[in-house]
Amino acid sequence: GEKIMNKIVSLCKRRGFVFQGSEIYGGLANTWDYGPLGVELKQNIKRIWWKKVVYERDDVVGLDSAILMHPRVWEASGHVAGFNDALVDCKQCKSRFRADHLIEDTLGIHAEGKSVQELTEIIHNNQIKCPVCGEVAWTDARVFNLMFKTHQGVVEDSSSVVYLRPETAQGIFVNFKNVLDTSRVKLPFGIAQIGKAFRNEITPGNFIFRTREFEQMELEFFVKPGEDMEWFEYWRQFTMDFFLSLGVKKENLRLRDHSPEELSHYSKATTDLEYNFPFGWGELWGVANRTDYDLSKHIEYSGKSLTYFDQEEKRHIVPYVIEPSLGVDRAMLAILCDAYREEEVEGETRVVLGFHPDVAPIKCAVFPLFKKEPLEELARKIYHDLKKCYVVEYDNTGSIGKRYRRQDEIGTPYAITVDFDSLDDHKVTIRNRDTMQQDRIGIDNIKDYLRDKLGF
Ligand code: ATP
Repeated sequence: GEKIMNKIVSLCKRRGFVFQGSEIYGGLANTWDYGPLGVELKQNIKRIWWKKVVYERDDVVGLDSAILMHPRVWEASGHVAGFNDALVDCKQCKSRFRADHLIEDTLGIHAEGKSVQELTEIIHNNQIKCPVCGEVAWTDARVFNLMFKTHQGVVEDSSSVVYLRPETAQGIFVNFKNVLDTSRVKLPFGIAQIGKAFRNEITPGNFIFRTREFEQMELEFFVKPGEDMEWFEYWRQFTMDFFLSLGVKKENLRLRDHSPEELSHYSKATTDLEYNFPFGWGELWGVANRTDYDLSKHIEYSGKSLTYFDQEEKRHIVPYVIEPSLGVDRAMLAILCDAYREEEVEGETRVVLGFHPDVAPIKCAVFPLFKKEPLEELARKIYHDLKKCYVVEYDNTGSIGKRYRRQDEIGTPYAITVDFDSLDDHKVTIRNRDTMQQDRIGIDNIKDYLRDKLGF
């Protein structure tokens, strides 16, 4: 697992998917920057999500709310009082761990949602050894609030405190009324948002799986109380179908329902879609039935009426909400891990990112067989023409074999080669990344061919 992960991290760096943050200054721990290919991959994932969750439906609208919000928002939501993780330190080697993760990793039981007292007891009673030094010498578990605090304006007193949002969801709840008043939504309906969130995680790590700054794709889907479990089931299944439709292998995905003890205080039911990462199963997408908890809290704290007038029943109701919440970075990591493969071809190792065409950063590469005119002129013409429809790359350096390998490694589904015959027969060779089969097709038919193969 670790070996594969190292290979993926180094490929990401070598080919410009993900760089270490602030690298020229020695790096800032657990920050990552997305390079030219990474930003394409990430944008494709976001675009597909938005298309499936907003554009293809008639019951979801979009939103882009501010990262900085009134501090009362986080009092109402419960984050100021309760958005905590428990940490423990090893007294011997001073390593620090998130208490629930330590328990999960060593005893294999889910400890999310347990109190610090319970966590402390479990760690002490089971004589859990420190994974770093092997000693059994733990401090008691203690809570730590995960919200990043900063100050708005020039005066740094308590009245100027603001938080970086730890989730995008609250921006949706506080705009519930605005959306209701300005669009023609009727229950059931959803509000979707993609944006950055920040959590001062105790133990970030596993590359881009857990970071302190990350991006979320969240949907708050409002329903009539009573219809909530039906819709919960619907969105639960949606998460699985979403990743299957992007070619992610079924055996690497599972839905894990939270046990009653594990449920957050506001949640009636929660399921995580998990992916089998090289370092183990990890949450990708959380689906929660949050009932009327959030809207009710904001009604209480803001004094505003965040209700919905039910035409049939002729009364105001507080809708229930189903929340499917997906991390962009985690989705990207799952897609990268799932796509990565090594194959033996003619005694050499071929590294392939077998991306689904929808997520592939580059859809097609164009090569002149040699770096010579008029081959290059024709190849460039084809390239510029394709660029109007697809993200395409031009490459004229190295042997054709090397150029194919370079594209395989970044997951480009098709590569077009222009050779001397092309000048006479007006045909080119198109090579398929996965089968390595080559088709000879007319230059005028390239776009139809790609549209047919790529599906867009
Ligand atoms: P975990 O148990 O892994 O800490 P969580 O249950 O706190 O996650 P949620 O609050 O449900 O996570 O957040 C919804 C989604 O946001 C997660 O499924 C994940 O994809 C993403 N996410 C949460 N925290 C992080 C993080 N620190 N780094 C990257 N993505 C994250």
